[in-house]
Amino acid sequence: MTILTRDDGIVKAVRYGVRGKKASNAAAFQVMCYGDFKLRPSRGELMTAVSADIIDGFYPVSEDILKLSLLTYLADITYTLLGENNPDSRVLSLFLNTVYAASYRDENIMKIKSVYELKLMCAAGFMPYLGAACECGRNAEYFSPARGTIVCASCRKKGDIALHSTVLSMMRYIVGCEDKKMMSFSVNDEKLYDELSSVTEKYVSVQCEREFDSLAYFKAMRGLY
Ligand SMILES: [Zn+2]
Repeated sequence: MTILTRDDGIVKAVRYGVRGKKASNAAAFQVMCYGDFKLRPSRGELMTAVSADIIDGFYPVSEDILKLSLLTYLADITYTLLGENNPDSRVLSLFLNTVYAASYRDENIMKIKSVYELKLMCAAGFMPYLGAACECGRNAEYFSPARGTIVCASCRKKGDIALHSTVLSMMRYIVGCEDKKMMSFSVNDEKLYDELSSVTEKYVSVQCEREFDSLAYFKAMRGLY
């Protein structure tokens, strides 16, 4: 199991030490859950989960392969950016609220994805610069995932992405808003969430200098819906 904890950040744990056969224990080892885990050090880096009390099993997510594949990807990028044993209460709260939104709120799934990607990047020290204009002073109409900034047509380089003005507005909102209000916006044309999503995932991928199989899987799943 991989557990994102408040005090120790992400830890790896094995469950064979779990005692008792209470239903709550079994439920806590589902694919995605929020719970109170009692851990004790085991061999090497590994912890042993001695007990677990489930607080929320996020059942709507467990039963929805698309949502589950999205959250698996989001857990993947969190692990990549945070690493193990690096406590971060902001990331914990962002992730929990994102799983909650995916489970219980009627939000566009690509919006949920983009909001978390961008907020995570901010929390991890990669807050993009989305100011008024390109650094040369011209109107900025592209986003540079490599530089983490908006640029104009003259300053853009290979890999920079043309931005719809509404996509830029959404990015500015997400970066600037209080974390608890991160989902509090909407656009009429839901296709713009797809555009936003392609920008934010590229930003994560370029800054992490890798591709994510879990993202490819999510996209494959989404193609089936
Ligand atoms: Zn420029």
